[in-house]
Amino acid sequence: MTNGELHTVYIGFGGNIGDVANNIAAARQTLDGLFRVNANVHSSLYLSKPHGKVEQDDFINAVSSFQTSLAPMQLLKEMITIENTLGRTREIHWGPRTIDLDLLLYGEEVIETEALTVPHRHIQDREFVLYPLNEIAPDLVIPERGPLSILLNCCADNGLKRLEEQEAVQA
Ligand code: ATP
Ligand code: CA
Ligand code: CA
Repeated sequence: MTNGELHTVYIGFGGNIGDVANNIAAARQTLDGLFRVNANVHSSLYLSKPHGKVEQDDFINAVSSFQTSLAPMQLLKEMITIENTLGRTREIHWGPRTIDLDLLLYGEEVIETEALTVPHRHIQDREFVLYPLNEIAPDLVIPERGPLSILLNCCADNGLKRLEEQEAVQA
């Protein structure tokens, strides 16, 4: 439920099938429209190496922050609707996907339910989340993890590459 209070939330985007740059842009546009607030901030797009054991193409990733009055589960529901609209299917765990939206942070809240863990359970291990976060919120302090700047010191970039605007258009 909403009580009108605005929360700053961080959402991570990623995909490696089809026109991912376009899918991330579409997801961001939908979220921007949903929240109707001009305080939303979007990182560049990044090219990243896949994690996990599945042999698959490189990913394009990005993060954004939004101001929302939606409750966490309402927000997750909207995120899943966006994934489904953009053709997300779930066949292989950590496998190829058109688009994935993860709720990274919801204000300073710590949430631990069956459907939702916030901060995202792997936030500290993922260069494709930490480096884009550093682009838009370098002073961020992550609940139960600590300052982003410290987490970055412990997280190799794993070949992560920030795409210039022109490259992002072609990606
Ligand atoms: P990972 O969570 O390791 O990034 P994934 O994104 O591939 O893996 P999904 O199949 O997209 O995993 O999500 C599986 C479930 O994770 C979702 O149905 C959702 O209920 C749950 N979940 C728990 N915490 C979060 C979160 N912070 N953001 C998004 N989904 C979450
Ligand atoms: Ca994910
Ligand atoms: Ca996900």
